[in-house]
Amino acid sequence: MADGAAGTKARCVSCREEIAIPEQYAHGDHIACGTCGTKHKVVRGDRVRLVMADVTPLRDALAQNQQTMNRIQAELAHARASFGIGANGLGIGVAFAVYQVGWKGEPLSMTLLWNAIGIALVTGLLLEAANWAFLAKRQAITRLSEELQESQEEARTLRQKIRDATRL
Ligand SMILES: [Zn+2]
Repeated sequence: MADGAAGTKARCVSCREEIAIPEQYAHGDHIACGTCGTKHKVVRGDRVRLVMADVTPLRDALAQNQQTMNRIQAELAHARASFGIGANGLGIGVAFAVYQVGWKGEPLSMTLLWNAIGIALVTGLLLEAANWAFLAKRQAITRLSEELQESQEEARTLRQKIRDATRL
């Protein structure tokens, strides 16, 4: 890369602002970001790079990220478990309705007709509620899965930053 008299520029690891690195800064020298104050170490390889001087905040962030992931995984397991319970509940409801209408085999009467209408209404409402709950739970599972993926991505980036910084 062009190492002019004005020095080179590299991006802050934390806020991505450009930091000018004067020529007199050697490999391993510390330089702080003028925007956010994050301290870096200069890495002079085939091109000039900046790595974090202190990885403690990165390790803290990683630990917090791990906690977040544990929480999301627990929520996800809970959501999946209750999803199964909901499906079983619906099955039992349908079986009960079939039993009421089919197996009792009472002679046709107004009472039976009203009962059938009542059962149909209740079953319909239950199905509607179950459907809504299914959708809500499926959405929750999708959202949690996405959050988990984001956390995994973040952990990967943090580990990479720590590796970069400790290799020096
Ligand atoms: Zn910065």
